[in-house]
Amino acid sequence: MTRTIDFSQYSSIKIGPVVDVRLIDTPELRVPEEFMIGGANNLLVSDTPPPLAMLSKKFDYIRLEGNRLTIGGATKSGRIFSFVKKHNIKNFEYLGKLPGTLGGLVFMNAGMKADEIFNHLVTIKTSKGYVSKEEISYGYRFTDIDDIIYETVFEVEEGFDAEKLALFTKMRANQPKDPSSGSAFKNPPGDYAGRLIEAVGMKGYRIGDAAFSDVHANFLVNLGKATFDDAFTLLEEARRRVFDSFGVALEHEVQII
Ligand SMILES: Cc1cc2nc3c(=O)[nH]c(=O)nc-3n(C[C@H](O)[C@H](O)[C@H](O)COP(=O)(O)OP(=O)(O)OC[C@H]3O[C@@H](n4cnc5c(N)ncnc54)[C@H](O)[C@@H]3O)c2cc1C
Repeated sequence: MTRTIDFSQYSSIKIGPVVDVRLIDTPELRVPEEFMIGGANNLLVSDTPPPLAMLSKKFDYIRLEGNRLTIGGATKSGRIFSFVKKHNIKNFEYLGKLPGTLGGLVFMNAGMKADEIFNHLVTIKTSKGYVSKEEISYGYRFTDIDDIIYETVFEVEEGFDAEKLALFTKMRANQPKDPSSGSAFKNPPGDYAGRLIEAVGMKGYRIGDAAFSDVHANFLVNLGKATFDDAFTLLEEARRRVFDSFGVALEHEVQII
């Protein structure tokens, strides 16, 4: 089964071709040449991507059993957020402000401030069965997962924190409203990618319709009809300038395929 996806509509940055994506309905081994997509909130898709696959709706579920929360890989952050709020569960408040599916959130170890998806994670179900947190290397926007994330089990603590949600909501108020893929680059140790981009004169810098936002320099935004080439050229220019000026090799956070 396939699903035809127009990435100029589906992806959060509204860039990319129309592609047939293979739908995975039941757990199976990963096809090595295939690239998994989730909600495409962190993707920049070229006109020639590798073969793509995604989880079907069968992986869109949440179960609360005792102090364990089991979530399917295709479940959207918004649904998880509504669930934890309703059931008075804490530690997932940021999911109200962070777009993605569970598979993408876990693969990226996504989060806001000190809250990251790995903080309360117990096990992940992959094509080779359950893998515990201790068996995985992870860090800031990084995991070494080389498999499909079908499901994840989290530990549960009571007490949804409305104040924390208010803090995240306030943080988001200062973010660009244009279509974007979130942060373009990871923050290098001890610094901010946004500061470095601004320091090399690229805050608000535009190539075609792709730009570094004038609201937040590390946000790659689409101001209209940006193409993959516009966005890619812009990213490369920023990397070059930051390296030439500061000797810092910025690492992409947005996944380019
Ligand atoms: C406006 C905006 C704000 C954002 N703010 C933040 C933020 O504050 N913090 C943050 O961390 N991120 C942020 N992001 C980025 C994005 O929300 C996260 O990276 C999110 O985890 C992406 O999830 P996704 O389902 O869209 O994944 P995709 O973008 O589709 O994929 C991302 C990666 O996950 C992999 N992947 C997806 N599904 C699976 C699966 N089932 N199995 C294995 N691998 C999989 C893909 O191969 C890819 O490498 C922001 C994005 C936007 C648009």
